[in-house]
Amino acid sequence: MAQGQQIFILPEGAFRTTGRDAQRNNIMAAKAVAETVRTTLGPRGMDKMLVDDIGDIVITNDGATIVEEMHVEHPAAKMVVEVAKTQDDEVGDGTTTAVVLTGELLSNAEALLDQGIHPTIIARGYRMAAEESQKILHKIARKITLEDTKLLVEIAETAITGKGAEMSKDILSALCVKAVQQVSEDSGGKIVIDLDNVKIEKKTGGSTNDSELIQGVVIDKERVHSGMAKKVENAKIALLDAALEVKETETDAEIQITDPSQLTAFIAQEEKMLKDMVDEVKKSGANVLFCQKGIDDLAQHYLSKEGIFAVRRVKKSDMEALAKATGGKIVTNLKDLNKADLGIAKTVEENKIAGDEMVFVRDCKNPKAVTIILRGGTEHVLDEVERAVNDALKGIAASIEVGMVVSGGGAPEIELARQLRIYAESVGGREQLAVDAFAEAVEIIPRTLAESAGMDAIDTLVKLRAEHDKKNVDMGVLVLKSTTGDMWKAGVIEPLKVKTQAVKSASEASEMLLRIDDVIATKKSGGGGPPGGMPPGGMGGMGDMDM
Ligand code: ADP
Ligand code: MG
Repeated sequence: MAQGQQIFILPEGAFRTTGRDAQRNNIMAAKAVAETVRTTLGPRGMDKMLVDDIGDIVITNDGATIVEEMHVEHPAAKMVVEVAKTQDDEVGDGTTTAVVLTGELLSNAEALLDQGIHPTIIARGYRMAAEESQKILHKIARKITLEDTKLLVEIAETAITGKGAEMSKDILSALCVKAVQQVSEDSGGKIVIDLDNVKIEKKTGGSTNDSELIQGVVIDKERVHSGMAKKVENAKIALLDAALEVKETETDAEIQITDPSQLTAFIAQEEKMLKDMVDEVKKSGANVLFCQKGIDDLAQHYLSKEGIFAVRRVKKSDMEALAKATGGKIVTNLKDLNKADLGIAKTVEENKIAGDEMVFVRDCKNPKAVTIILRGGTEHVLDEVERAVNDALKGIAASIEVGMVVSGGGAPEIELARQLRIYAESVGGREQLAVDAFAEAVEIIPRTLAESAGMDAIDTLVKLRAEHDKKNVDMGVLVLKSTTGDMWKAGVIEPLKVKTQAVKSASEASEMLLRIDDVIATKKSGGGGPPGGMPPGGMGGMGDMDM
């Protein structure tokens, strides 16, 4: 009898959850990730200490770093981590915002599911709201250009505020803006910024306030010979990708030397070859040589005698930065080296910093590569300063490239929610409920900022909505003063792209999760326990979720 007979289509040990269970589990996992980073949002956000299995610690406030270091295993939680990664790749800043928004979108979707609204309707409503959001955000944004230094500094400050680097935010913001302005290039009327041209060197010791911008490059190397002057003024710099060495014979051929005069001649020959090489460098007019390959001891001696400052085995990326900064050309054949290939810098100098000798190529004329030297008391401080500086640099770059900025402190989110609610009325049907849910989700940002400032979240939202109804579009949460106010006047400014990208990735991820009604996880051979990081007993309780 076929009745009651089970048919197995999945391998033994496979886990499957379907329908509302699958949805509920996914939403719970995603919300758990969002909830974890929520307290870090904004200038009064808290930090997280992440400890890995060998006891290494990371102390950070950066959303992308936190979710990555959490090593989550639940598939839905992983999708939220992806949201943070995308935000980090595309904009650099706004990772916490994107994750928190994803969590809230799903949380509100859950309420609609409970009311019996079909997930595809919710997903469709979210899609409509997300598209409308892009339009609204563009409408409320203001223009910015490379010359708006004051605004750019404010963007950098907004990105840095609340991070470990906050104490030095004035100095760091100014450095970041100068660096980006310096490396920006005009390519057929469009400003292009390649942040690879802003090199960051971290050196422990000193205070973050000692950080500086070098209009040129810093090379983590020493000059090759102590006889060379430590400092060269008006440097004319040769960039060579060839060795100043006499090639070893490549085959195993032996050279038979039968009497001492032959040996002397042989050595003299080698010496002459090295001397000739140094003469080539000299002839070009260079007084500084950066060599990507080796420099023979004897050649070092000759270079020193000729008054040429030389560094050997310079990294390829450093050579490229040197070329961009000094305007020099990397030459691969010494014979081709001539005056036109030389780069220019006001000074090249070896200096000790935090106990290490480094070579500073300073004050290049209009360098297209620069270096920021970051200082900080400990490695952990320095790492967090670097993350803050990276957020600032990327924020400045994103602002200039898109050419648009918005105010921060939750002001754009309140305005977005307000306009979305108006839009929802034109949508009608059940999708209208989803658009309204989307609008409310967006307000999680000002709500969280208000909470972090110790303000009453509901009162604050009511007040801000009323202000926005009166067309005061810049009203947001002045977190540092625990009150509401005009964010634009307060100089809390963010790149438009932070917002557009956060809304885009958050809505895409939640739509995708909502459409899933079946999770089938098959066991990898040999692995014990449930697959895919699911807790024992399927994807049930969150209490033992493996994060
Ligand atoms: P994210 O990873 O999303 O950038 P942050 O912790 O950097 O997270 O917080 C960003 C939020 O904090 C943004 O909404 C931003 O406008 C807000 N913010 C930053 N500085 C201030 C400030 N001085 N006052 C109020 N809000 C601020
Ligand atoms: Mg930020």
